[in-house]
Formats: sequence, C-alpha cells, structure tokens
Amino acid sequence: MSSENSSADDVRDDERQVWDVVVVGAGPAGASAAYAAAVAGRRVLLLEKAELPRYKTCGGGIIGPSRDALPPGFELPLKDRVHAVSFSLGGRFTRTRRSRQMLFGLVNRPEFDQQLVEHAQKAGAELRTGVTVSRVEQHGSAVPDRRTVAVVLQGGGTVLARAVVGADGSASRIGAHVGVKLDQVDLGLEVEIPVPDTVAEDWRGRVLIDWGPLPGSYGWVFPKDDTLTVGVISARGEGAATKRYLEDFIGRLGLAGFEPSVSSGHLTRCRADDSPLSRGRVLVCGDAAGLLEPWTREGISFALRSGRLAGEWAVRIAEAHDAVDARRQALNYAFAIKAGLGVEMAVGKRMLSVFARRPGVFHAALTGFRPAWRAFRDITRGSTSLGELVRSHPMAQRALTALDRQPAAPAAPGAEDPVSP
Ligand SMILES: Cc1cc2nc3c(=O)[nH]c(=O)nc-3n(C[C@H](O)[C@H](O)[C@H](O)COP(=O)(O)OP(=O)(O)OC[C@H]3O[C@@H](n4cnc5c(N)ncnc54)[C@H](O)[C@@H]3O)c2cc1C
Repeated sequence: MSSENSSADDVRDDERQVWDVVVVGAGPAGASAAYAAAVAGRRVLLLEKAELPRYKTCGGGIIGPSRDALPPGFELPLKDRVHAVSFSLGGRFTRTRRSRQMLFGLVNRPEFDQQLVEHAQKAGAELRTGVTVSRVEQHGSAVPDRRTVAVVLQGGGTVLARAVVGADGSASRIGAHVGVKLDQVDLGLEVEIPVPDTVAEDWRGRVLIDWGPLPGSYGWVFPKDDTLTVGVISARGEGAATKRYLEDFIGRLGLAGFEPSVSSGHLTRCRADDSPLSRGRVLVCGDAAGLLEPWTREGISFALRSGRLAGEWAVRIAEAHDAVDARRQALNYAFAIKAGLGVEMAVGKRMLSVFARRPGVFHAALTGFRPAWRAFRDITRGSTSLGELVRSHPMAQRALTALDRQPAAPAAPGAEDPVSP
C-alpha cells in the first residue's frame, strides 16, 4: 500500500476522521515511528512542518546501531565510508588511526531523511508536509471522547488520533506538552564547505575529531564527496566562544579560503533521568524526548531506535479501551526506553563528565592505548555499545569511576600534555 504526499488543505478536509496514530515531525524518529505503526497495519498520518527534503544541521555520521535500526530493505545513501580517524587535541598532537573494516558511514541528512519517509509511505503511512503542529489537547471541546487526542495545527484545523507520537526535534512542542525535563543542552555549529578535488581527495575515507577548548566540546570534519561538513559542539550558553572555536578550527585546517554553502546551528538536548516519556495517549521519542548520547551527541541511532519503539507502543495505545490500559502501554514504552537507551545515556553522561575535565586523557588513550582505540572502533561499528563495554569490562568500569573522582584538569586542553593524566 502506498499513499500520496498531501497538503495542509487536505488536513482541514478530513477533520472528522480519527487516525490510529498521528506522528509529529518527519526526521529519523518520526519516520521510524510512522513506519513501525504502518507495518502493523494501522492508519498513520505523518505531519511535517517543512517541505521535504529539508536541511538538518548534522554531521550525518551513521554508526552501527543506526544501520541496525533501519527498516528492512533500506539502502543507505552513503557519501563516504570511514576507515580512518585523525584525533587532535586543540589542533595539536594529531594522530591517525586506521581500520581495514568500515568504522561508520556518512550521509547527507536531507537525502537520508527523505528516504526514511518514503519507506514509511511505502508501508502505508500518509505524509503531509508544510503542516506545523501548534499543540495537542487531551481534554476539552476539541476532543470528542476520552480515547481521542486532538492535534491542533497552526493556521487552523485539527486532526484527531487515538495515539500521538511527538518526534518534532529539539524545540519540541509535544515534548513541552509531555513535560520533558532536560539536564544537558548543547549548541552545535556547522558549515558545509564545497572544496576542490585535491582537497576532497585528501579527506576521502577519513574523518577528523578535535577535542576542543571548552569543557566537553569537540569538533569534526566529515567528508562527503566534494563537500566537507565541519562542525563543533559545546554546552549552550557559550555561543561566542563556540563560534570562535569553529572559526579557529576552520582556519587551522586551511579551509578558511573556501566559501561555505550552508552555515547553521542547532541545539541538542539530553533528558533528565526522571523525565517523562509520555502523557496520556501521547509519546515522545528522539530529540523531542531528549534521547541522545551525552558524550558524542550521537542522536540518529537514538532517534531511529526510540522512534521504532514509539510507533510499536503507539499502536497498542491506539487499541487501548480506557485510560488505565493506555497508561499501562505508555509505561511499557518508557520501560523499554529506559532499559535500553537509558542505560547507554547513563554511561555516556559519565564519559562526558570525565572528558569535560580531562580531554587529554581521552586523547592519549585513543591515540596511544590500543584497547581504547579498539573500544572506539567496536562502538562505531556496532559490535558493542558503551553500556555493554562498561558492564562486561570491570577494568573499564573501575577506570571510569577513578577518573570521575579525580579533580579537574587545567582549563586549556591545547596547553596540556596529552600523555600525563
Ligand atoms: C551539529 C550537530 C551534528 C550532529 N551530528 C550527528 C551525527 O553525525 N550523527 C548522529 O547520529 N547524530 C548527530 N546529531 C544529532 C542528530 O542530528 C539528532 O539527534 C537527530 O536529527 C534527531 O532526529 P529526530 O527525528 O528526533 O529530530 P529531527 O531530525 O530534528 O526531526 C524533527 C522534525 O520535526 C519537524 N518539526 C519540528 N517542529 C514541528 C511541528 N511543530 N510540527 C510539525 N513538524 C515539526 C522538523 O521540521 C523536523 O523535520 C547532530 C546534531 C547536531 C546539532
């Protein structure tokens, strides 16, 4: 079954019909949720405020867990395959590590996201673009009965659903309705730099990761054919210093002479441990729920995995006959998220806490200590995860605990000797 893309006018035409599941936002989380609910045979509507394909500030790094969470038959539109990583510390002590096997892949988000949406449509989901959701209501005059949620659209119109999945990214309105609580917000700045063949050739198959000057910050160069995605990320609230880091980074790499085709910024957010993942018949997933790896700020795999779970549990909520049953299904969703992604996030938070204070230790380990490089390689390839690694290696657990207890390192990592912890 497949359906046509349709517009805001169509939304108003069918205000009276009740969808099983309405998904808000057509990024990786929303497309996955829509796919999961549609393959279960439910009537699914996917609402997206932008026209697709749309740009998203993102490195487009696709690690193993992202690949594993893709729908069956999905062919990744890879722009490059990463076999080498250069690490630097404040632009110094650069060292390159290589792997015969691919570490991770690189995609352009507009293309990747569009393809995911097409998969959801092929499974039967209906897509409507150019439709901004203002809010959801679970009580009041817009809601015909207790089993229904009203999705209110900007500019007028309401869509009715038995269950709603909020996948509307890091400025999520559905997240606000659910009451998502955050304990980490970061600002990512990025430029897309078209470069001549000679420069592109130098980067093919290799990325650069630079541990930055602000606590917890880092920068990257991700090559995609004739364009380099260059970005930095740091805690929100240091906008000017983060911008300076990006400018210095680009300058140091000798890329300042090339005109970026896109220059943008976007927030990333991590949920607090006790943050809700649902309210009534509404679930949140991906960035909207603050599901993101706190150290690397890798979010695509979190969006794909939580989106799929949200779609599956939204189907059960849609079938629930009363509020008690709906609540039970929502709690099951929360349990599944906390047992999987929640565990990953807890380890990531500890990693960030250590990294923010001692970036030199991380640099020294990754560039000079083979087991640390192997762990990085295995995590990016998806043969293990941060959580699994710490769980199954008591040594790693002890090292993390010991480093977490140590006092902070000097403020400027560029001036620090990377090999003395
Ligand atoms: C600088 C930077 C670099 C990154 N690099 C990587 C990386 O290399 N690898 C990685 O795994 N992760 C990376 N991330 C994280 C990753 O981009 C996000 O975690 C991921 O996009 C989350 O997907 P999502 O579907 O939850 O949200 P999004 O991709 O943000 O999608 C949300 C969608 O909802 C739509 N929307 C928003 N509001 C509404 C509304 N009211 N009504 C209707 N639609 C709405 C938006 O238009 C958008 O299409 C990076 C993030 C940043 C900021």
